[in-house]
Amino acid sequence: MITIQGKGVSAGVAAGPLYFYQRAKSEITRVTDADYETEWKRFRDAQAKAMEQLGALAEKARAEAGDEAALLFETHQLMAEDLDYEEAIEEAVRGGVNCEAAVADVRDQFAEMFAQMDDAYMQARSADVKDVSDRIIGILTGAVQGGIDSDMPVILAADDLAPSETVQLDKSKILGFITEGGSGSSHTAILARTMGIPAIIGVGGQLKAEYAGREIIVDGGTGTAVLEPDADTRAHLMKKQEEQRKLREMLEQLKGKENVTKDGHGIRIYCNIGNPEDVHTVLANDGGGIGLFRSEFLYLGCDDYPSEDYQFEAYKKVLSDMGGKEVVIRTLDIGADKQIGYFNLPHEENPAMGNRALRICLNRPDIFRTQLRALYRASAFGKLCIMFPMVASVWEVREAKKLCEQVKKELDAEGIAYSHDVQIGIMIETPAAAVISDRLAKEVDFFSCGTNDLTQYTLACDRQNNDLGRFFDPHHPAVLRLLKLVADNAHKNGIWVGICGELGADLQLTETFLSIGIDELSVSPRAVLPLRQKVRETNVAQVRDKLLGDLLNDQTSI
Ligand code: PEP
Ligand code: MG
Repeated sequence: MITIQGKGVSAGVAAGPLYFYQRAKSEITRVTDADYETEWKRFRDAQAKAMEQLGALAEKARAEAGDEAALLFETHQLMAEDLDYEEAIEEAVRGGVNCEAAVADVRDQFAEMFAQMDDAYMQARSADVKDVSDRIIGILTGAVQGGIDSDMPVILAADDLAPSETVQLDKSKILGFITEGGSGSSHTAILARTMGIPAIIGVGGQLKAEYAGREIIVDGGTGTAVLEPDADTRAHLMKKQEEQRKLREMLEQLKGKENVTKDGHGIRIYCNIGNPEDVHTVLANDGGGIGLFRSEFLYLGCDDYPSEDYQFEAYKKVLSDMGGKEVVIRTLDIGADKQIGYFNLPHEENPAMGNRALRICLNRPDIFRTQLRALYRASAFGKLCIMFPMVASVWEVREAKKLCEQVKKELDAEGIAYSHDVQIGIMIETPAAAVISDRLAKEVDFFSCGTNDLTQYTLACDRQNNDLGRFFDPHHPAVLRLLKLVADNAHKNGIWVGICGELGADLQLTETFLSIGIDELSVSPRAVLPLRQKVRETNVAQVRDKLLGDLLNDQTSI
C-alpha cells in the first residue's frame, strides 16, 4: 500500500485503475527509404479511422447542438478524402517517405496554399487541412484522441491538464482525477467539481509511471490517494463512500424546497456550467438557473472560430433546456490559462494581466460581434442575461454595450427575432471594478463577483500556482470587504449582485454572504443542495451584526 498526499479540490471517494493521460506526441520521425506498399496501407487505415472518428464527432455535435455544429466535422471528412490531398500524400509515399512525414508535408503545403487565397472561405480551409492532417498523424503515431484509451472508467492521472485538454476528455471514462500540479481554483479543479468527480491536485513527484493500471482509491475531501490499499484502509474508504452516498440521498429531500433562511431571507442558488450538456446536472440538482455559463469552453472545444450558427444552437439549447429559468452567459473569457491556438495570441510574460477576456473582444470586435449576434438570436428562446468578464473601467462596459446595440439594430434590419428583456451585467473580478462599483452599477443590470480572479488580483497571488497555497486566501478580509462594498453599491443603485467564483459554495461563508445581502450564489451543480441546507439552517438576524462587525473591524487574520 502506498499513500499519496495532495490537496483535495473536489470531495468524494472513488476507486479504480490508475491511468496516465496520454498527451499527443508532436514529433514525427522522418524516413526516406520506406516501403511504398506498407506505408500506403498504413495511410489508408489511418484515413479510414479518421473518417470513423469524424463521423462519430459529427453525430455527437448534431445531437448536442444541431446540424450546423455537425458541419465542421463533415467538412473535415470531405477534406480527409479529398483527391488532390490524397494524391499529394501518395506521391510523397511513392518517393520513399514514411506516411506520417508525408501527411505532415502535405498538411503544410496545403495549409499555406489555402492561407494565400483571396477568398475568406478558402482561407478558412487552411485550419481544416491542418486539423484533419493532425488527426491522421495522431492515429499513425499512436496518440490518443481525448487522452484516454481505456474501455473501463479510470482514475485519471496527469502532470496537469490545460483547459483545452479537459474539454476534450471523455468524461464518461473518468472516476476521479489526480494531478501533479494544478491549483484549487484552476479550471481542471472547477471542471471536476462541476462533474461531481473526486479530485486531488499538487501531488508532485509522488505519482510513478509503474503505478499505471494498479488499483487506487482517491479521497477528494482529504486529498489522500491510496494505491493498492490494505483491507482495513479499503474498508474505511468504502464506508466513507457509502456515508457520502447516504448524505446525498438525504440532501435529495431538499429538492423542490426554497432557499430561504429561518428568518425569511431568500437567496437564489444557480449553477456554473461549461457546456450545454451540463444542463442536465443543473436540473438534476435543482439549480434555480445558470449564473455562469463559461462560453469560452465552446471555443476551447473547437479547432477554429465557432460560427455564429454553431454558437446560436448551443446557447439556444441551454436556454430552451432551462425552460425559462434565468441563464447568465458570460462572453468569451480566454487568455491567461485558457489559451486557444487558432486565436494566435502573441506570447505574453504576464498572461493573467494581459490580453484576455473582454480586452480581446474589444480589440477584435469581429469575434465579439459573432458571439453577440448568436447570443441575441438565442435570447428569443429563454431568459438570457449577458455578462462581460474582466472589466476594469466604465468605458469598457460602455463600448461593449454599444456593440450590443449595434447587433440589435442589425437583427432588427434583418427581421430576426430576439428578446428585448436581455439583462446586461458584468463580472467583478478586478479590484478596480470593485472600487468603482458605484459607477459601474449605473451602467448595468447586475454584478456577479468572480472571486477566483478577484482573490488573485486583490492579493497579487497567481491562482494557478499551487505553491502559493496559503497565500491565496479568498477569506482574506481585503476580498470580503470588497464583496461588501460591491453589494452595497449594487443595492444603492437598485441592481442585483451575485457570486459566481468558487467561494460562493464555501459553507463557512454562507452566513456572511447572507448578511452582506448577496442576492444570488452560482455554484457547481452538486453544491446546490448542501448550500440550500446551510441557507435553511441560518438565522440572518442572529448573526448579521457580529459577522459584519468582524468583517469591518477584525484584525486577527490580516
Ligand atoms: C472567477 O474568476 O471567479 C470566475 C468565476 O471566472 P473564471 O474562474 O472562469 O476565471
Ligand atoms: Mg475569472
